[in-house]
Amino acid sequence: MSKFTLDKLREQNVARLHRWHSNEIDEWTGADWSNATCGEAGEMANVVKKLRRGETGARNDDDPTEPELRAMLADEIADVAIYLDLLAWYYDIDLAEAIISKFDRTSERYGFPERLSTASASSTPRSGSDQPSRP
Ligand SMILES: [Mg+2]
Repeated sequence: MSKFTLDKLREQNVARLHRWHSNEIDEWTGADWSNATCGEAGEMANVVKKLRRGETGARNDDDPTEPELRAMLADEIADVAIYLDLLAWYYDIDLAEAIISKFDRTSERYGFPERLSTASASSTPRSGSDQPSRP
């Protein structure tokens, strides 16, 4: 599999958007894209609500299993990212540049050394897996 980038997401996202909704896409406003993004965020939060019920022993009998919920959560997080990219596209925002800029300004504001604009793959501490550990 080729390396995923936000540029690749934008390219494929916009191409598919025009293929899928070519007749109506000009009618969508920024509010429509924002609402779609927030709708997916709501779906994501609903899955987390069910995961939390499981964590606290309040699981409903008809709730999916924890592995099923984690798979559902991955899908909903992806949906949020996909719509977020389209929201940024609508307003002609380069999402990668926006993330790098905001991340670095926040690090600078709070005195943290982490920067996306200068980060290399080897500068990120790892803890035995390929993902940084959770706080
Ligand atoms: Mg969804």
